[in-house]
Amino acid sequence: MRRLPVYFLIDVSESMVGEPIQQVEEGLGQIIQALKTDPYAIETAWISIIVFAGQAKTLVPLQEIINFYPPRFPIGGGTSLSRGLGHLMYELRKNQVKTTYDMKGDWKPIIFLFTDGVPTDDTTAAITEWKQNWQRTANMVAVSFGNEADTNVLKELTENVVHFKNSSPAAYKQFFKWITDSIKTSSESVEKNASGFELSKIHDTDTLSKIDLSKPLPPASYTDSNFVVMVGKCQHMQRDYLMKYRRAEQDAEIYGLNLNRLYYRLVGAFQVDKTYHELSDSNAKPTSINSEELIGNPTCPCCGNQWGFALCSCGQIHCIGEEKLSTCPTCGNTAAYGASEGGFDVNRAQG
Ligand SMILES: [Zn+2]
Ligand SMILES: [Zn+2]
Repeated sequence: MRRLPVYFLIDVSESMVGEPIQQVEEGLGQIIQALKTDPYAIETAWISIIVFAGQAKTLVPLQEIINFYPPRFPIGGGTSLSRGLGHLMYELRKNQVKTTYDMKGDWKPIIFLFTDGVPTDDTTAAITEWKQNWQRTANMVAVSFGNEADTNVLKELTENVVHFKNSSPAAYKQFFKWITDSIKTSSESVEKNASGFELSKIHDTDTLSKIDLSKPLPPASYTDSNFVVMVGKCQHMQRDYLMKYRRAEQDAEIYGLNLNRLYYRLVGAFQVDKTYHELSDSNAKPTSINSEELIGNPTCPCCGNQWGFALCSCGQIHCIGEEKLSTCPTCGNTAAYGASEGGFDVNRAQG
């Protein structure tokens, strides 16, 4: 049986932390479950999951659906699309079964690329390699999550660029159903009439819409991300967590704040595991943001301390509670914290 390789290339950068990554994790689980009951897909589709942030990594190597168990997704710092693409092309090369004299090779692989942000690196070389070696021999669907993904880069890769408004759990459900249906129709069409790749029809265009690539896109003002994410360390557990803030223009009015500035409002704080550093680009320089632009201070997601956001003089953010003296888990410095007047500059993660 000829294989139909299906690759998921998934952005796990910091802005995906929280609901988006949980939904992707559940969604992939639903896709696999649905495909396990589809006679065509179970015969021909092979699936692999690759994740990328500042670094890229194969989360699940290419394998048959029947043996496939959905993984837990990690989070990393940065959005290196070029490392993601590079790793994808490495896997494509490695796994490819070519047609020989006595054996039919793989069907054209299908790649679903999910990304929610602007690449934090130069993608030119990776995109050139993709165009030269893979654009014609693989089918890519690039899905931009939320509203800030840089579709200018995505349209260099493929003519199938889809915008997904990840506004609610119901929207995610619909989205993953669309992916499932697309894999089903593709695996049926390769077996029946060898026509191959067929995306399922998009019904609800509010949730999912194909981007018209013939229209020029507005010039990218995307450099100002819609999210600010910062890394903290728990004073008690020594674990890392991320604090995520979403851009909040309207909120400024409600809070009576200066409208000429950008504000970010707390989404939540989330624990991350050791893979966070493995998937982050250690050479990346963090950019700075003023704490006055951030609304909300989360409790520590590791130990439950009342404030997740205290800044040590060494630059490390850590949690503090009711204690008189707090100890920085990074430099060991002990200090008393009070509410600070005015803002201070903190380093934001790359996104
Ligand atoms: Zn803590
Ligand atoms: Zn410190």
